[in-house]
Parts: sequence; C-alpha cells; structure tokens
Amino acid sequence: LVSCRGLQKSFGDREVMKSIDFDMLAGDITVIIGRSGSGKSTLLRAIAGLTDPDAGTMTFDGEVVFEDAKRTPAWKQVDSHVGMIFQSYTLWPHMDVLKNLTLAPRKRLGMSESAALERAEQALAEVGMSDHIHSRPSELSGGERQRVAIARALMMRPKLLLCDEITSALDPPVAAEVLDVLRRLKEEEGIAVALVTHDMAFASKAADRVVFFHQGEIAVNATPDDAFNKTEDPELKKFIDAVR
Ligand code: ATP
Ligand code: MG
Repeated sequence: LVSCRGLQKSFGDREVMKSIDFDMLAGDITVIIGRSGSGKSTLLRAIAGLTDPDAGTMTFDGEVVFEDAKRTPAWKQVDSHVGMIFQSYTLWPHMDVLKNLTLAPRKRLGMSESAALERAEQALAEVGMSDHIHSRPSELSGGERQRVAIARALMMRPKLLLCDEITSALDPPVAAEVLDVLRRLKEEEGIAVALVTHDMAFASKAADRVVFFHQGEIAVNATPDDAFNKTEDPELKKFIDAVR
C-alpha cells in the first residue's frame, strides 16, 4: 500500500529522518516505537502530507505520489485515502459529534446532507459511539473523543489510518478499548493502520510489523515476536527494558 524509499528530512542542520525505507501492506497494522525525538511523528506526518520530505520517493497504492522533493499529481490518492489522528485537540469543541464528522465530507466531497448523515451513523456504529451523535466533545470522556476522532477519519473511507500516540492521555483500560477499535477496523474493513504507541501489549498481540526508530533511522523492522523476543539490536533491547 505504501512504499517509501530514501525519505530524508532535516530541520536546520538536524537530520530527523535519515534515508528511511518503509513499506506497508494493505490491511496491516504497523506499530512504530522509539525514543522521544527519534523521528516517529515526522514519518507519519510525511506520509500524511503534513510535512514534505527533502528527498526520497513514496508510492501509494502502486502510484508514485512523491519524488524529486515534490508531490506528483497522484498525490490526490493520499488526500483521499489516508486519515490521521493525533493525541489530542482533534475535534471541534463548538460542534456536536455529527457536525464534526460531516463537515469535511460535505465541504471537500460535496456530499449531500442525507448521505453524510448516513455515513456518520455507520462510522459511529463502527466505533461503538452511536448513542453520542448529538453530544459535544466536552461531554465525552477522553476515550470516547478518540473513538469519535476515528469515526471522523472513517468518513473518508480511508485505506490507511495514521495514529500518533492517540491513547497516550488515556488510562490503560480505556486505551485498550480504543486500540481494539483499530484492530476491528483492520479485521472487518481491511483498513491498514500505522500507529505510534507505547503500548507494548497491543503491539505484541495486534501488530503485523513492529518498526523501531532510533535517531532518525529505522533500526528494526520485524514481526512482534522477532522484535520483542529475539532481537539482537542493543538499542531496541534497552528500549524494551525501559518501557517494561
Ligand atoms: P516523540 O516520541 O517525543 O513524539 P518523535 O519520535 O515523534 O518523538 P519527531 O516529532 O518526529 O519525534 O521529531 C524528531 C525531531 O525533529 C525532534 O528532535 C524534533 O525536535 C524535530 N522536529 C520535529 N518537527 C520539527 C519542526 N517543525 N521544526 C523543527 N524541528 C522539528
Ligand atoms: Mg511524536
């Protein structure tokens, strides 16, 4: 689904992505781990188009979407099929859940009100939030807000969801429920998920691939079993010991 080759990004003289090669298969869950500042968010933001790499190529669904430091016309595939969710502040506080979900499809896709409503009802059902269609974000718990944020991303019928520490502010059981939604979306809808998380239990049981970032490079890209139980990488070993 996604294939990145030689992605580089510097801020000033600081190289935060050093020639990243990264692939994702359709429908896979990829968990991205690594120390603060190692470049995890920068990669997700690059794939989502929130920041452009300085060099490298990216293909999406078999089409070259980025090369020679710029986007190709096929980039519209990324805009249409990739959703991103963040740790916080993702919903509009002054709009109810329904409006939060339907705003972008109505404006960007010109979707009719009734079609948008129907899709919103579906999306909320998928994340178990049907009862909250008229709630405001301030009336929801943190876990409920993140499930609504996922539902909002589902409005665009994404092939790929990028999730950057979306459960970091939540208690472990609530976080587990939110992550479970992602696993169901993979299993039932075939949606690929790339998520940055510190939740090693989720990574072990739900990830198809585990990617360990170290100082702007992918130091390990392996199955969860290989990454957590069999790795010889000294930095990954240290990281695992530190978070366990
Ligand atoms: P964390 O776990 O703390 O979220 P991370 O692995 O997601 O860390 P990134 O956010 O990708 O790390 O940042 C990598 C490096 O790039 C950091 O040193 C950060 O300060 C730097 N950086 C990121 N965005 C910018 C920016 N817009 N301007 C300048 N420096 C930036
Ligand atoms: Mg980050």
